[in-house]
Amino acid sequence: MWGDTVRVDVLGVGFDNLTLEEAAEQGMELLHAEGTQYVVTPNPEIVEVCRENRAAREAVNGAALVLPDGIGVIKGAAVLGTPLKERVPGIEFAARLLEKMAAEGMALYLLGAKPGVAEIASERLRARYPGLRITGTHDGYFQEDAPVVEKIRQSGADAVFVCLGAPRQELWMAKNGEATGVRLLCGLGGSLDVFAGTVKRAPRFWCDHGLEWFYRLCREPQRLGRMMKLPLFLVHVWRESRKN
Ligand code: UDP
Repeated sequence: MWGDTVRVDVLGVGFDNLTLEEAAEQGMELLHAEGTQYVVTPNPEIVEVCRENRAAREAVNGAALVLPDGIGVIKGAAVLGTPLKERVPGIEFAARLLEKMAAEGMALYLLGAKPGVAEIASERLRARYPGLRITGTHDGYFQEDAPVVEKIRQSGADAVFVCLGAPRQELWMAKNGEATGVRLLCGLGGSLDVFAGTVKRAPRFWCDHGLEWFYRLCREPQRLGRMMKLPLFLVHVWRESRKN
């Protein structure tokens, strides 16, 4: 936890109750602070993973910022009687943070996704955020951490976007974050694919109506197995609310 605010507990994961803008401002504060911190953006699927996997839960709760990505987390917190201000999708947090980093000429490293994707994302981000420096990229299909950590360290980046999928990215940041020497690591799932344009984000209507998950399911039906965790999450929230 960063600062002294109390987190909102949703089935064992403590969420920071912030708006998107507040979250981006706190991200910048972390970028100006001493030491290394990391940000996670769990959705209901990740909360379910955390219920079963202690290491994942510790990695998630050990983040300086835990942001609610997904309408399910917002609904869950409301049902539990501790509502969160708003949904803070990882990709929107990243975009807002990049605007602010670009304004200060900060440096970013992109880690994750299939070979070639981070390079395309890098070109597109440079064009979209003049002033932003991208000091390196690496795909997410590596076996050994040490050489990747060393590349990040040598790049002199201020921040790293870690897009290895959950819970690998959370465990990776908890284990290797400090050794990279950067100020801030952000675990952002499939965001590099979106920045590169290889995966399209749901149109505004679907996002505004809390249906982004359904749009993604239609585009990527192979996600169905993973998404079965969503009804399970709702059942667990309902059970927890009855206990309270
Ligand atoms: N990925 C990776 N290394 C791996 C497994 C996954 O870099 O070992 C990448 C994958 O290519 C994709 C991202 O991690 O770019 C995960 O995307 P997903 O859609 O699963 O994440 P979500 O946004 O749903 O959390």
